[in-house]
Formats: sequence, C-alpha cells, structure tokens
Amino acid sequence: MSNWLTELTVDYVNELKPYESARRLFAGSGADAEQVWMNANESPFAEEYGIDASVFNRYPDCQPDTVISAYSSYAGLNAEQTLVTRGADEGIELTIRAFCEPGKDSILICPPTYGMYAISAQTFNVGVESATLNADFSLNLSDVLSKVGQVKVVFICSPNNPTGTSVKREDIVNVLDAYKGTAIVVVDEAYIEFDISNSQADLLAQHSNLVILRTLSKAFGLAGLRCGFTLASAEIITTLLKVIAPYPIPAPVAQIASVALSNEGLEKTKGLVALLKNELDDLREALSQLGDIECIGDINANFVLFRSQQKQALMDYLVANKVLIRDQSKQVNLQHCLRASVGSKEQNKKLIELITAFFAQEAK
Ligand SMILES: *Cc1c(COP(=O)(O)O)cnc(C)c1O
Repeated sequence: MSNWLTELTVDYVNELKPYESARRLFAGSGADAEQVWMNANESPFAEEYGIDASVFNRYPDCQPDTVISAYSSYAGLNAEQTLVTRGADEGIELTIRAFCEPGKDSILICPPTYGMYAISAQTFNVGVESATLNADFSLNLSDVLSKVGQVKVVFICSPNNPTGTSVKREDIVNVLDAYKGTAIVVVDEAYIEFDISNSQADLLAQHSNLVILRTLSKAFGLAGLRCGFTLASAEIITTLLKVIAPYPIPAPVAQIASVALSNEGLEKTKGLVALLKNELDDLREALSQLGDIECIGDINANFVLFRSQQKQALMDYLVANKVLIRDQSKQVNLQHCLRASVGSKEQNKKLIELITAFFAQEAK
C-alpha cells in the first residue's frame, strides 16, 4: 500500500486483516454449480419469494412494523424489545459501539467461539478479554466472573459456534447477576431454532442487562438476505437506535422477512429444522465411524465439529472433490478440528463417501 495511505489510515485499522469469512476463503476458486457448500452453516434449502417493487422509489422505514411485529410475536416479546438489523453481525457491532468507548473499554469473549465479536471490537479500537471455555466446552464461570469491572460487554454464544454446545441457564443467570449494572451480557442465539428449549429470551423479563441476538441466516435459510434481530429491554433498544443507520433494512429484505415470519413461513422452517436435526444425528454417527475421526462438542446447532490428525490432507482432498467444510484448528483447544455444516441428504452422503474414500486411500 502507498506510504501516504498507510500514514493516513488509523493505526489500529492498519493492523487489521479483512475477515476470513467462509465465503471469502473460497472466493475466486470459481463459483461452481457442482460445489457443495458445508462451510458456513447455511441452510441447504432455498425458498421462492416474490417482491413488490412499487414502493422502491421511497426510503424504507428504519424499523418496518410488519417485520418487528412478526418477530416479536415469534419471540414472545413486545415490539419495543425488538430491533431488526442487517444480520446478527450488525447487532454485535451496535452493542459494542453503544457501550464501549474506543481506546478505553473492552469486551469479554469465551473462546473457542464465533470470530466476529473480537473482529467487531478491533475495528472500533475496543479491547478483547478472553475466558476460555472448559475442556468440555462449558462456560468457565470463575474466569468469566473474574472480569467483572474490567469489561463492558460479555459475549456468550449458545448454542456455540463452532462447538455446538449450549450454555447452562444457571450459568447465564450467574453471569447476568454478577455483571448487573456494569456490563451488558449478550447471548448469541443464532442457532436457537435447533435447540429451542434452551432459549434465554424469557430471562429478559427479570434481567435488565441481557441482550439476545437472533438471525434469519441459519434455520430460516436466508443468509443472503442479511436480516437479524436484537432482543433486549425497551431502554437498551432505544440506546441502540441512536447508533443504527437511518435505513438499515432495504425494502425487499423487509418484504421477504415478513413472509418468512408468517405462520406459514414459521411452519416451513420448523419442518426443515426437524429434518436437518435428523440428518445431523446421522451425519455425526457416520463420521464417528470413519478413520481416526473423533466428533467433539455437541450437535445443538446445524453443524458437527470433529478432530482428525489428518485434517489438512482431508481438507485438501475434500476441496479437490468440490466439497467445502471449515478449518477450525486455529482456535484455542481446537487443534486438528474441522467443522461441517449439515446439508441435504445427498450432500451429507457425498461428504461421507468422500471421507470414506480418503481414509481408504490413506490406509493403502
Ligand atoms: C452466523 C452467525 C452470526 C451471524 O449472523 P448474520 O445474521 O448472518 O449476521 C452470528 N452469530 C453466530 C454465532 C453465527 O454463527
């Protein structure tokens, strides 16, 4: 990069690298109809949606009523407790921007976990503290509580990406109580449809420092839509509305989200979630029979995490055969680990066949 531009750029931005999203990692490998994408926890199913272009000459509502009322009733909350955002990722960013002062404050993350909490913080020059999960991927409660007074926002992901484990409600309540009055506790429920009985949304009634993140990207099969939700007290939502863009939700996004959240849409999603959960059970069972593979964590979301000493050769073999999964081996305590999102029956079958062939060839 030119000298003058490096000098002009803010120091902490110079140090950043663009996020290695699953999509970016394979960009340029050529969009290929035969490729099977099992690397970004997307849904294998896409639905048809119509749009009404007659309103596109107008700016959209900041918070479209139809979407807010549909989602708040789905979540069992009031409209005032619901914010619609450009994906759950925007909810992460808004929470950090509203509650952390750049160059001064910090967030707390519990790795191995979703990468965007730390990345969002770094883009605003906000510090990142860690409380690594226990060996069984449960919350290390004493580590988390030892940071009271040192951080402004605590991120807990449940079900956690990439371990597929859910956090005990008792632990979340403990964290909420310990941080009451000094920090926001964000529970990221991006995968909650796959473990619906473990939602903490009802805790909003008693805990004023709780924020819950949701998305249409995973169970609803709408990752391309960029639509997520932040659930919190009316006071917190009002604060977040001060930092959100004036028109964050494009009109076609609001139209499609409303359809996905209609009774019919919700029923459809429920059916697909049940189907994917069955597939995931079978996928994990089949994987654990192969080569040196050890499945780890849990399958409360839409992916399986596994360890193989051959992970690099296995990854290369899958990529060469057009099946993409995600390397998680750089995360703390996830040496040699790969994550595969559950696909359709045919896709899962293809993955298992390829891994079987890989280990057969290795054995020769
Ligand atoms: C995928 C994911 C998100 C991001 O969701 P978007 O709505 O697509 O921005 C947030 N949190 C976790 C844990 C995720 O896995």
